[in-house]
Amino acid sequence: MTELNNPTFRLAVAQFEQAAAMMHLDPNLHERLKMPERSLIVSIPVRMDDDTVRMFTGYRVQHDSSRGPSKGGIRYHPDVNLGEIAALAMWMTWKCALAGLPYGGAKGGVRVAPKKLSRGELQRLTRRYATEIFPLIGPDKDVPAPDVGTDAQVMAWIMDTYSQQVGFAVPGSVTGKPLSIGGSLGREEATGRGVVDVTLEAMRHLRLDIENATVAVQGFGNVGSNTARIMREVGAKVIAVSDVTGGLYNAKGLDIPELLRRFRGDGQPLRETKMGDWISNEELLELDCTVLVPAALSEQITHKNAAKVRCRILAEGANGPTTLDADQILVDKGVFIIPDILANSGGVIVSYFEWVQDAQRFFWKEQDIRDRLHEIITAAFHRTLQFSTAQRATMRMAALMSGIDKVAQAHLARGLFP
Ligand code: NAD
Repeated sequence: MTELNNPTFRLAVAQFEQAAAMMHLDPNLHERLKMPERSLIVSIPVRMDDDTVRMFTGYRVQHDSSRGPSKGGIRYHPDVNLGEIAALAMWMTWKCALAGLPYGGAKGGVRVAPKKLSRGELQRLTRRYATEIFPLIGPDKDVPAPDVGTDAQVMAWIMDTYSQQVGFAVPGSVTGKPLSIGGSLGREEATGRGVVDVTLEAMRHLRLDIENATVAVQGFGNVGSNTARIMREVGAKVIAVSDVTGGLYNAKGLDIPELLRRFRGDGQPLRETKMGDWISNEELLELDCTVLVPAALSEQITHKNAAKVRCRILAEGANGPTTLDADQILVDKGVFIIPDILANSGGVIVSYFEWVQDAQRFFWKEQDIRDRLHEIITAAFHRTLQFSTAQRATMRMAALMSGIDKVAQAHLARGLFP
């Protein structure tokens, strides 16, 4: 499929092929798992506020559903394309399997710059997109969640649209929704909290001290801002954060609570807070720090800048932030990589808790959610670390091989239909 031929999909497939070769994956399964199970492209007509009708393109890709309903976020971004969504869906399959969640992998997206739409336009776009992908989604089939450019409000509109179609409220049709309609405590911060949980385990393993650690975070959205906040709460010094416009750097450590109050609360652009020196995103990635957290888009660390990356730990909050050739350069430099499918799995783990709570109609306390997240993600970290040592594989390959193996076992148990 030529539509899939884009750099992000090539990266996901190249990672898969490397892991498949190392684990001597059955060649028949290899061919099945390389391509998504199902891909839907939809046209979304939206009546704009000026009464014109604009067309947008949307996608929903289900990579694998052998272990349960497929699960994955919805991205609103002007560069969204089928290949990127298919790559993200494949990573979701390995991520859910690695964490031991009873899900397959999916992803969706719309090619749109959401900040350029009014609230009304965004709602009409979301509802029409949800209607177009309605045949594929549902609590037992495929469950969307937020990703870049979408949030709890977008999930609420999708949940409502789904519920209108079937005629009754179906909270379990999406995760990452507001508490008032069956959302979960702790879901919003979950990905960032998971990034911090695994980073602390990596620091213990490397005998590094959190009090002396410096952290740089690229991306100040859901994942980046929660990671920065919790890193600071556990005692690290967050020396830099950035968003699409650029970053703030303060060698003494940024006052993250105050920054969040101005940035999220008052809507002040990062630069105008003047809480640090203004740096570019490229400069942020090359800062001397203990922990670097890419938490924006994919392919940020490439063969061009990998040699200049100076962190001790790379905790991948974003999906696919490191290209395959950059990976090798970082490993050779001795950077300890916590790969995306492990580092950012806190989001889908708490999404799973949300889905379970919706099904039970019984809601848990926030501390229970944090404890269970901690238990699952740190266990996945240690399994991956042990496997990586035993197999003499990198953490990324160990994580991928563990995830792929669980999916392969499911396919072998179920057999090939018909
Ligand atoms: P978001 O939309 O809340 O935030 C994205 C951030 O990245 C914003 O601060 C934006 O300004 C910044 N950004 C965008 N383009 C950039 C660029 N070219 N350079 C630097 N910064 C840029 O999105 P999010 O939900 O925080 O997702 C961030 C990453 O984490 C994505 O790769 C996503 O797939 C991944 N992820 C998200 C979740 C989740 O629960 N939201 C879970 C797992 C993984």
